Amino acid sequence: MNKSNIILVGPPGAGKGTQAILLRDKMDLNYISTGDLFRFNLNNSTALGKKAQQYMSTGELVPDSITINMLAEELNSLGIDKGFILDGFPRTLPQAESLDAFMEDLSIELDTVLFFDVPNDELVLRLSSRYTCRECQAPNMLNSSKTSEVPTCSQCNGELYQREDDTPSAIERRLEVYDQETKPIINFYETKGILHTIDSLGKVEEVFSKVMEVV
Ligand code: AMP
Repeated sequence: MNKSNIILVGPPGAGKGTQAILLRDKMDLNYISTGDLFRFNLNNSTALGKKAQQYMSTGELVPDSITINMLAEELNSLGIDKGFILDGFPRTLPQAESLDAFMEDLSIELDTVLFFDVPNDELVLRLSSRYTCRECQAPNMLNSSKTSEVPTCSQCNGELYQREDDTPSAIERRLEVYDQETKPIINFYETKGILHTIDSLGKVEEVFSKVMEVV
């Protein structure tokens, strides 16, 4: 059984979610997306969802205390028999340090950190044309001139919607927050010698073959 433990890091819109799902299917690993977990809680109006809502809608990070607990519970419930892919966690240095401590307690190690590198102007373009599937969560890129057609998901035909945080003001804030809060973890993992930078401009399949070369 494959037991790699892999983290996907990168700015919003870099394609982490798309690549994570391809990797999960290829390597049969557990997959945890903190963004999906928050959205699930939000859609089901749980106490956690209500706490996260105000942060998510404006492009802010949900506070570390809430996010770290949620991640720890999810990892505990999935178990460590399989390896895992983390998409969207850690996003701050305290989160990265907590993950280290948590993994040490479980006597497991992080194998690979994939950093998806995309220039800012391309990120803005991608995020503003991104529509998410209500059924399978896959991101679909729609050309704005076509959005008057009723769009459906290219993967499962599910209904598409535009995320509340894919609006221009939230996009701008998410990119700022990424620079301030998340970028420092790149150096943190580089120092550990497990960071691999993936140039993520280009087609999904091209990026995925770069990912497979690394893992
Ligand atoms: P994502 O789907 O990964 O873009 O995440 C959507 C939103 O969920 C983010 O803009 C944050 O508000 C929240 N979120 C997801 N992951 C984290 C995290 N690791 N730390 C704090 N907030 C997070």
